[in-house]
Amino acid sequence: MQQNIHFPTYPAGSHNYLKRLYKQSKGHTSDEGSPIRRDLDIAVVGAGVGGLSAAIALKRAGFSVTVYEAASALGEIGAGIQVPPNSSRILHSWGLEETLSRKAVKPEGTYWRRWQDGKIIGDTRFNPVFSEWYGAPYYVIHRAHLHEVLHDRALELGVSIQLNWRVVKYDLDAGSLTRKDGATIHTDLIVAADGIRSPARQSLLGDRDKRLIGCGLAAYRAAIAVEDILADPETSWVAESGSLNLWVGHNAHAMTYSISKGELFNMVLTHPEANEPETWDRSNALTEMKAVYSGWDPTLTKLLDMVTSTQKWPIQQIDIPTEWSSKSARVVLLGDAAHAMLPNMALGAAMAVEDAATLAECLKIFPRRDTLRNALDLYEQLRIPRTRAVQEASDLHGFTLHYPDGPLQEARDAAMRPEVEGVHFVESPNQWSDPMTQQFCYGYDAVEKVYETWRNNSKDPTTREKHYSAV
Ligand SMILES: Cc1cc2nc3c(=O)[nH]c(=O)nc-3n(C[C@H](O)[C@H](O)[C@H](O)COP(=O)(O)OP(=O)(O)OC[C@H]3O[C@@H](n4cnc5c(N)ncnc54)[C@H](O)[C@@H]3O)c2cc1C
Repeated sequence: MQQNIHFPTYPAGSHNYLKRLYKQSKGHTSDEGSPIRRDLDIAVVGAGVGGLSAAIALKRAGFSVTVYEAASALGEIGAGIQVPPNSSRILHSWGLEETLSRKAVKPEGTYWRRWQDGKIIGDTRFNPVFSEWYGAPYYVIHRAHLHEVLHDRALELGVSIQLNWRVVKYDLDAGSLTRKDGATIHTDLIVAADGIRSPARQSLLGDRDKRLIGCGLAAYRAAIAVEDILADPETSWVAESGSLNLWVGHNAHAMTYSISKGELFNMVLTHPEANEPETWDRSNALTEMKAVYSGWDPTLTKLLDMVTSTQKWPIQQIDIPTEWSSKSARVVLLGDAAHAMLPNMALGAAMAVEDAATLAECLKIFPRRDTLRNALDLYEQLRIPRTRAVQEASDLHGFTLHYPDGPLQEARDAAMRPEVEGVHFVESPNQWSDPMTQQFCYGYDAVEKVYETWRNNSKDPTTREKHYSAV
């Protein structure tokens, strides 16, 4: 495009069509095969979605990357995970579109259903419109498959992955990691993607690292063979539904969808739990789960009767710290280590993918040892407010999902009626549908934000232009 276009600095979707046009005119850009090799050794701790995403983004940016993972074998437990377009757009840009299309499901949308009888009370449409609006689809996928896709890509790019490597000491000043047997590695930058209980965060914050915050809820996770659901005429419609189905009631909800290309049916059942996870007797989980939802919509209880085993998961978050990196600029947090949040909006892992893309771009702008501080400052400037806002959205969504029957629930359901009836609406209590929250969550372009913020930070207009045109 030849013309200089002034994009709005206020929250607006009015110019997004021009941004899309601009991106289209630039075509697909890729760092792969690029001769750029950047001279920084980076150690990523943790091979979850966050760590593997960081490894891919940083390797593609030309850095030397090694992943250190405590486990002796890689894999993800749990059943399904939702991959919204703010994340899938990044995954596509890493060359994963073809594999994701093969392994993931593209649901048509999500129906909210009343707990008692399954009546539809909310409706968000995802696919195919999200690809047009947000540049990539909304996927749901088996966690193991997402993990495998990321792992394979990291290996393909030449990332080295060291298993059996539990870090017992982070030296924040020296930039070193030590294992129990004393083995120590020194590196330029440590990206700590070591999960919600992050030892790195504890090293970084000391006494300021607060306890994990519960919310009085836990989740059962379960999977059923789709053929079992199809075999029963009362439940077959759920497996045939192209959408996610979410039953909502007082202090509990049941999120359900097909994964593994329609072979497995995933259920995440959130319910009240007063006790700390350390005290749970997990052997009763199956019976407890069925008791919690007794009296709910017969279709849901029938589905639960088909479940033969379940796992109970804590639902916790952290108080997102105001600093994510060491003073030395040698250690930085990423993923749940930095911002574990409640899963109500299904955005926790998506935030880790955004972190990874952001960090790689910040380091591309500031790629040397003596500019690490600038890179990490820019990363923190972007990621701390973004993840705090999404964490808040996840908290609030939980309240909206869990009203007891009564005036608030009636007002909520009435306010969602337009989306159910398919008429135009400008706001909704359902944050997946609410136009402003949807745009905020799914329209976020992590890479573009780096250059926009860098340009706005910079006092020198020529440098600003130079860097912006490098986007
Ligand atoms: C019920 C539930 C449903 C969810 N649904 C969604 C969803 O639909 N969509 C979504 O985007 N998010 C969802 N989330 C959130 C998502 O699962 C997490 O945000 C994401 O998995 C975090 O990834 P991570 O890589 O940061 O951390 P983790 O997955 O916890 O990975 C941390 C890794 O670090 C390793 N490690 C830890 N300590 C050390 C050490 N000392 N040395 C070396 N390695 C170490 C661990 O072994 C692990 O492999 C959900 C969460 C829950 C609880």
